Formats: sequence, C-alpha cells, structure tokens
Amino acid sequence: MSYLELRHVAKSYGTGATGVRALEDVSLAVERSSLVAVMGPSGSGKSTLLAIAGSLEAPTSGEVVIDGAPLSSMSQRDKARLRRRTVGYVFQDFNLLAGLTARENVSLPLELDGVPARRAQHVAIALLEELGLAARAAHFPDELSGGERQRAAIARAVIGERSLLLADEPSGALDSVNGEAVMRMVLAACRRGVAAVVVTHDAKLASWADRVVFIQDGRIVDQTVPPPTAESLVADLPAPAPRR
Ligand code: ADP
Repeated sequence: MSYLELRHVAKSYGTGATGVRALEDVSLAVERSSLVAVMGPSGSGKSTLLAIAGSLEAPTSGEVVIDGAPLSSMSQRDKARLRRRTVGYVFQDFNLLAGLTARENVSLPLELDGVPARRAQHVAIALLEELGLAARAAHFPDELSGGERQRAAIARAVIGERSLLLADEPSGALDSVNGEAVMRMVLAACRRGVAAVVVTHDAKLASWADRVVFIQDGRIVDQTVPPPTAESLVADLPAPAPRR
C-alpha cells in the first residue's frame, strides 16, 4: 500500500469570476522509501499540492490518505499530531525561528511533542553532526549561510522518525553544490524508509528521484519513471544453466 495517496484532489481558492482552480483531479501515490519530484511552471499548483499532502490545507474535493488513514476523517487534534510526529515540511523560505539557535530550531519539534529537552537536544546535535553543521549548532539563523540554514531546515523536518518528507523547492535558494547536498539528505531519509515529495525546478536534481511528476494548470500532465538500471535488467534474466 502507498504511504501517501492523493485521490482526485481538487482545490479552489475563492469563487465566481475571481476564483482560482489551483488543483484539478490530482491523483498521486508515493511509496515508503521512494522519492517523487514535482516539476511545473510557476503558479501551476505545486505548493498547493504539497500543502494539501501535508494537511496544512484541506482539499475542496477528493481525499488525502496517509498510512491508510483518510485525513477527512481525522479530528483537528489528530491532524495536529500527524503534523507534529509524521510529516516533515521544508518551506521555501526555510521558516527557521530567528530567536532560536540552529540546534534549538532542530530540536523544537521533539520538544513540542513532549520529549525531554536534554534528550531532544542530544538528538538534534547528532543530526546536525551528520549534516556537517555541528560547529554551527549554537549560531542563530542570521549567522548562518543560505546552505547552512537550509540544512538546518531539513534537519528539523526529518528529526524524530518522521515518515513523510515534503519539501518545497528545498534547493531553490542554493547553488548547485548545496542543492545536491540537500537532495542527498532527502535520499538518505528515503533510504531509512521515508516517503518524500520534493518540488524542484532543477531537472538535474529531479533526475535523482524515483519518479518525476509534471504539473501544469493544476493537473498532472506527465509522470516519468527513470530508465531501468543495468542491475535490474540482469535480475530478470533466467539463471545460467549449471555447468557439467
Ligand atoms: P506553484 O507552487 O506551482 O507556483 P501554487 O500552488 O502556489 O503554484 O499556486 C497555484 C495557483 O493557486 C496560483 O494561481 C496561485 O495564485 C493560486 N493560489 C495559491 N494559494 C492561494 C491562496 N491562498 N489564495 C488564492 N489563490 C491562491
């Protein structure tokens, strides 16, 4: 079963002549351990799709199912818990809290979820070390470079065994080296079993995904699957006959 499913999702903002149909009949399934990249022109509905997948916004019609549970049947409280524990969200503009250090920003989701502060800090430091940010842990966001801020934002999104990672242009403000580092972190999370959806305008980064979904005027217009690897082609061959 897919970990995240969007079933015939539509989203309108406003009504009548001034209304906008941001999404129309979008269906998408994302398995655990897989990375789906979403590409499309500005205003095509990418951010809306991500916000609906993460329960930050409700669809006008259609259904979102996460780990078998339809969001429409969840209470506000259940959805808040889902956002705290299950969904890691990386916003376009990072959304790090200016008054907290990198380490405090990263440990915040765990602390909000009731994990004792010392334990949460320990986990955050380990994660920052993994991302090469240990030396910057005590710095505030405005003392960090764009790449460092973005790594902190991703650390905050993956902390605490989250299983769904949704990232809106996580490499948007970064140079290509940092952009690749960010994608590597997302892929590492996928290898741990996380289902990930990443909006990107960068075809090279999108090519790292298991699947690329193209969206235009609120509709999915194409989905590509990368060509099979040499190993997967060989795996289907019959075993060689035993030698006599
Ligand atoms: P993208 O992320 O691909 O640039 P968005 O999902 O942000 O596209 O937007 C899709 C469409 O929905 C656009 O026409 C945008 O103007 C509109 N839209 C997005 N959010 C809102 C909102 N809160 N109110 C009104 N219109 C919105």
